[in-house]
Amino acid sequence: MEIFKTKASLHAFLQPLKASAKKVALVPTMGALHSGHISLIKLAQQNADIIICSIFVNPTQFTDPKDLEKYPRPIEHDLAMLADAGCNGVFMPNVEEMYPGGADEAWHIDLGNAEFLLEGEFRKGHYQGVTQIVKKLFDAVEPDVAMFGQKDFQQVLMIKNMLAHFKLPIKIIVCPIIREDDGLAMSSRNIHLSPIDRKNSLVLSKSLQFVIDHFNEYPLVELEEKAKSFYNNIDGVELDYFTIANGDTLEPAKSKDEENLVALVAAKVGSTRLIDNMIIK
Ligand code: AMP
Repeated sequence: MEIFKTKASLHAFLQPLKASAKKVALVPTMGALHSGHISLIKLAQQNADIIICSIFVNPTQFTDPKDLEKYPRPIEHDLAMLADAGCNGVFMPNVEEMYPGGADEAWHIDLGNAEFLLEGEFRKGHYQGVTQIVKKLFDAVEPDVAMFGQKDFQQVLMIKNMLAHFKLPIKIIVCPIIREDDGLAMSSRNIHLSPIDRKNSLVLSKSLQFVIDHFNEYPLVELEEKAKSFYNNIDGVELDYFTIANGDTLEPAKSKDEENLVALVAAKVGSTRLIDNMIIK
């Protein structure tokens, strides 16, 4: 497995492979890898010849400097996991390489109204930062396909809107959410959960599963209220949002007959903010 710290060295590696018609997949990550990330690598291997994983903790998508500072960076562990998974190359630039003029580089594109809903409401400017770095990574790798997790449902929508904006010919493949045995969605942030937080964190998957299991039983409003009531009286858990939304617009669902419906949740568990979702249909 090759490691690249500069765009130039990555380009030099990829150029001859592309010239011989090898298909390249990009798996963008912020590191602190777990089985969810590795599932993206595995799915990439089914869809391309050469797999590049990027590890970059992108400063422009963090709205809370403390969150950026404490983001885990176990690089040796990450590289061992990627080598084990058969990843071909790792792109791990520093901030200077991606933002030569400083991380306050101007960037603003129209991502549609969904940018301002849900995560966008709680993390102002988050998706401008996400699309900014993903565009830079796409420019550096020029992949045929790129893998993203359903775990970040809204992010996938934003990336697709960014691709449409720039008319980039890259296929996006969305990978299912990988969970711990008890239902908690895997996340790099889970290591910050104390034992009691870890127990409390199960409320996210349980409330989502409730919606899936009882979708036909209750009207939408009641279903959402019942799911929200899971969060009542749990010390140390603070619900940011729980919504049953249209999967294309992320606006609250108006009817059960809408084609794409998804339940999405974000909550602070202890000092760790977690997100999760389940697709209803
Ligand atoms: P991150 O390193 O958290 O930015 O995530 C990198 C990619 O892995 C994103 O596309 C995430 O949606 C995806 N991902 C994160 N957690 C999971 C999970 N539990 N299952 C599947 N994909 C995931």
